[in-house]
Amino acid sequence: MSISPSHTFSQALKITPLMAEKLARTGVCSDTDLLLHIPLRYEDETRITPVADVRLGEFAQVQVTVIEHEVKFRPRRQLVVTTQDNSGEVLVLRYVNFYPSMLANFRSGQLLRVKGEARHGFFGTEMIHPRVEKVTENTPVAATLTPIYPTVEGLPQSTWRKLIARALEVVVLPEILPAHILNPDWGTLMDAVRLLHAPPPDVNPHALTERDHIAWGRLKFEELLAQQISIHQARMARRLEVAPALVVSGGSELGAVPAQTPSPPPPLPPFRERGENQNVLAQFIAQLPFKLTGAQQSAWQLIAQDMGTTTPMHRLLQGDVGSGKTVVAALACAQCVDAGKQCAVMAPTEILAEQLYYKLHEWFTPLNVNVAWLASSVTKKNKQSVYDALEKGEVHILVGTHALIQESVRFYDLGLAVIDEQHRFGVKQRLALRTKMKESVCAINDGQEHAPHQLMMSATPIPRTLALSYFADLDVAVIDELPPNRTPIVTKLIDVRRRAEVVAKVAQDVAQGKQIYWVCPLIEESETLELKTAIETFDHLTAALTDARVGLVHGRLKPAEKRAVMEAFKACELDVLVATTVIEVGVDVPNASVMVIEHAERFGLAQLHQLRGRVGRGAVRSQCILLFETPLSDIAKERLKVMYETTDGFEVARRDLQLRGAGEFLGVRQSGLPLLRFADLETDTALLEDARDAAAWLLAHDHTAAEAHLLRWLGNRAELLTV
Ligand code: ADP
Ligand code: MG
Repeated sequence: MSISPSHTFSQALKITPLMAEKLARTGVCSDTDLLLHIPLRYEDETRITPVADVRLGEFAQVQVTVIEHEVKFRPRRQLVVTTQDNSGEVLVLRYVNFYPSMLANFRSGQLLRVKGEARHGFFGTEMIHPRVEKVTENTPVAATLTPIYPTVEGLPQSTWRKLIARALEVVVLPEILPAHILNPDWGTLMDAVRLLHAPPPDVNPHALTERDHIAWGRLKFEELLAQQISIHQARMARRLEVAPALVVSGGSELGAVPAQTPSPPPPLPPFRERGENQNVLAQFIAQLPFKLTGAQQSAWQLIAQDMGTTTPMHRLLQGDVGSGKTVVAALACAQCVDAGKQCAVMAPTEILAEQLYYKLHEWFTPLNVNVAWLASSVTKKNKQSVYDALEKGEVHILVGTHALIQESVRFYDLGLAVIDEQHRFGVKQRLALRTKMKESVCAINDGQEHAPHQLMMSATPIPRTLALSYFADLDVAVIDELPPNRTPIVTKLIDVRRRAEVVAKVAQDVAQGKQIYWVCPLIEESETLELKTAIETFDHLTAALTDARVGLVHGRLKPAEKRAVMEAFKACELDVLVATTVIEVGVDVPNASVMVIEHAERFGLAQLHQLRGRVGRGAVRSQCILLFETPLSDIAKERLKVMYETTDGFEVARRDLQLRGAGEFLGVRQSGLPLLRFADLETDTALLEDARDAAAWLLAHDHTAAEAHLLRWLGNRAELLTV
């Protein structure tokens, strides 16, 4: 079977290099791409509407005779053409910009087809800048609906229409897929493509624009199928990769897997030669100040098992804010260090990474494990010494931001990568991470390909549609239980005009020995303004709460200053902590039991949930007060309602997805990479399931078709869909 290669146009299309370049800017690089450049909407030029029936604000084509034209100067210079149709109904055409040459169209008595949107205007029913065409009574109307294509500057609609019409004549997309995996109602791919570019006049235009039409069904299925095939392939490729089995001899009561076959000890990095890190896991467990919850235990058991095999672990540890994921990640690190390999622990923001670093540093340093820190804020000199130590194998656990995946970072022997809040990393970063991990490991093993184990963590449950698609290649362990003695958080929504009452309430709380977070509004457009507001809030609260010790933490503080404030708050030396959103993630002060969030309406749902998760960690009854300013947008109202109604992270995530859409959830939309163009994960679940089954069948029985289909749909973009 031959299909057109993914980056060329047929000679027959006569596409000049200049045109090819312009098309490439819209992602169109081949015949197939051109045929799959589907219109956004259509205009109906297949019929002529009597002027009397034209609906205001909607596109219509009318046929009228020019009565007169006139250049008027009021309200400003413009060409006004008065016309009427054969029922005598008057329609005014108005042009604010016009050229003398246009006047030839508007001689009195000229018959015109006029296409545009009618409105109530200065001169009666009018169209502003309509397209006009000189016609005779016999000029035929269009046979099909007129497509309006997505485009960029320099590519007018007429160009798209010409190119695609030609492509429909000379290019054929052969049927690649066996008929039995397709819905018999669909027709061929070419049928679907043809219909979408040139729909006959009787097609329901709504079904076209809403993507409900059967032709859309075929296209969406094809696209989802390509995605499913590439996911399957990624999974199979991953199964072929080999990871070091991170086995702990002796095991432990917590479920670490003992070595099945006594194998000769692996070549040891320097830290093992010094013999300091024996039994890190056992010692770590022995010194834990609390007992793992049942859910943590079972999650850890799965992870320990994964890491004990030579198949690279690819697991998501999912648990609500505060469910205790960090300690499970630490257990994984301990097992890895015991097995003589390095760990990378990465988080999407510096403050979150820092929190992880403090935790791991505090837990592991007494066990002689070397935990190092890397972020873009680290000085060049210090970075270099971390790089050196890392390369020599003197660093056992490296914690940081995406500074970990920079060019100059070389691991000595990476065994495990932990990625916190993984969904907040963009697709590009995830791709870079994957490359980095492979390169680090390969460099060590003298050409022997090894992939590290990967543990991802997220407080956001993966919605079902995404679990079937983007995350189909992921094993999941869920922590569905909070550590004991947590009391539920009560959420209140309060109009900011009642701020004084809230301040008075906080004064009472302070008197009772409670600790309070006061979160300042998020000001996306200006960090300076955000800072200013934080300082004002701090001044205001310091003045209003005379008996309270008030502290301030914000993003402009140096890490050491930030740390000092956080430490003071943690040590109960501060009662109220005024903070910008730097405390959004990871911060852990169990005694804090009240959180006030100003301008809560500006925050996203996930963010509010994360913030709220900073309280309710101790045994005291906790409160979250969301101050809002009216008027509220519908979506803000809906978000606050969700916060009021539930503290369940799963429910919050579900509603969030509803409000925002799947693309944003993935952190992909902003990175501008191609995702699904046609199918919609929220509405096309049934098609997605069909595509999944069809992909499995194809890969098992018709590999050639699977490959050809993938090439047609993704070309070289397949990789991006599966990271
Ligand atoms: P998250 O899952 O949001 O990352 P953390 O790992 O930060 O949660 O844990 C939240 C808090 O719960 C921390 O203070 C941690 O020490 C504590 N914690 C974790 N597991 C337990 C447990 N089994 N028993 C008691 N406290 C726990
Ligand atoms: Mg966490």
